[in-house]
Amino acid sequence: MTNDKLLIGGTWCNAENDRTFNVHNPATGGVLSAVADASGADARRAIDAAVAAAAAWEAAPPRVRSDLLRRTYELLVEHAEQIAMLITLEMGKPLEESRTEVAYGADYLRWFSEEAVRISGRVTSAADGTATMLVTHRPVGPSYLITPWNFPLAMATRKLGPALAAGCTVIIKPAEMTPLTTLYLAGLFEEAGLPAGVINVITTSNAPEISDVVLNDPRLRKLSFTGSTAVGTHLMQQAAPHVLRVSMELGGNAPFIVFDDADLDIAVESAMAAKFRNVGQACTAANRFLVQRGIADAFASRMEERIAELRVGPGTMRDVAVGPLIDDRAVSKLERLVGAAVSEGASVLVGGHRLSGSGSFFAPTLLRGVLASSVIGREEIFGPVLPIVEFDAESEAVELANDTPYGLASYVFTESQSRVQRMIHSLDTGMMGVNVGVISNAAAPFGGTKHSGIGREGGTEGIQEYLTTKYTLLRQG
Ligand code: ADP
Repeated sequence: MTNDKLLIGGTWCNAENDRTFNVHNPATGGVLSAVADASGADARRAIDAAVAAAAAWEAAPPRVRSDLLRRTYELLVEHAEQIAMLITLEMGKPLEESRTEVAYGADYLRWFSEEAVRISGRVTSAADGTATMLVTHRPVGPSYLITPWNFPLAMATRKLGPALAAGCTVIIKPAEMTPLTTLYLAGLFEEAGLPAGVINVITTSNAPEISDVVLNDPRLRKLSFTGSTAVGTHLMQQAAPHVLRVSMELGGNAPFIVFDDADLDIAVESAMAAKFRNVGQACTAANRFLVQRGIADAFASRMEERIAELRVGPGTMRDVAVGPLIDDRAVSKLERLVGAAVSEGASVLVGGHRLSGSGSFFAPTLLRGVLASSVIGREEIFGPVLPIVEFDAESEAVELANDTPYGLASYVFTESQSRVQRMIHSLDTGMMGVNVGVISNAAAPFGGTKHSGIGREGGTEGIQEYLTTKYTLLRQG
């Protein structure tokens, strides 16, 4: 594998016209590497390759598919340090967090290597006793996987794992900011024995051009996308003419609710993780901190202490807790959101501004007295800014939490079990953490309600996204 090649049909090749584009290090603004800049012609070759490999991959014994995933998992673990460094260099997160991402991302391959040999069906008698009903599953077919930049490894393995386990061949298009990790991963899959055409990697600076070609090809059967709701809804429209199966992991606006009866130590520790992990750039990141009036002073002062201590710098530096944002646009967005909250009366307890020098850094920030209606509580912050909104009654917290078009993750902090029961029932969310600030797990179904998406990744649910159901009726002999 070299960085400036595409992987199509088992061959590492140049983009048509030999074009490349540069990948940058967000901590310095410097160029890391040139990568192949695919165009529509390359996309056509990739879909041809995925289609050509489909029948043999579907016919491959589940154990063979399982072994490929397992072997790649092992290679990922062996190369954890190199891949963690690559993630930090192209995406910016602190090295320690990249190591955590490698473990988390690798786990999807291990999990789906186990799921590959457990695809089961159903046999029942027709209700009138005249026939037997057989329910079996087949791979949905060639799949197009589009991944974002915030978890360059895990977003790829979370799609590749179930797709390959189910017997689908794929075209994967990583985000233009972070293609290097996917290229490296594809190299590991090859080392593990990947058959030609089962994974095709397209890097490009022109995602719409590639997607137009791939999505317009009637042989494609599935689209799995992780990214913004705006792009996701556009892609769903593009997926409609050929009635593609779609999985969408879109934006979030997670409420982090701290009730008066919460264990403060746990709430503070979890808030740090839910907000500052990945420099705040996760769709599950806590976006709105809804804090009950009676505990708000204590929570705010403890958070103030903790946030003021956070060390900011390049992710490769020792003891750095907060790295750069992905680009300058992300910094400008935070300036706009914080500015709006302050103009409405919020006070800045820590940070509140961009950091000068090279790289796209924003100071870890704590805001108090934020209005629930503020734009910072409506948009996905995607950065190290923690806004506190206060509330009085439990019913008010529920109303505020659900007052968003999104429904991905929610976090609840309370010592009351009956309140936990009520929250499970009343929060409109795909995932929920109770007294915990990080909930992702390969064994769990990741996904959202409303504008946060369709479908689930991970868990026993994840492989279903890549399977179609076939029902057969057998007349009773
Ligand atoms: P983010 O806001 O996290 O950058 P995006 O939704 O813009 O999320 O990007 C997520 C992924 O979608 C990336 O791989 C990006 O290249 C891709 N993408 C962005 N716009 C389009 C588009 N119009 N068609 C297809 N893919 C796109």
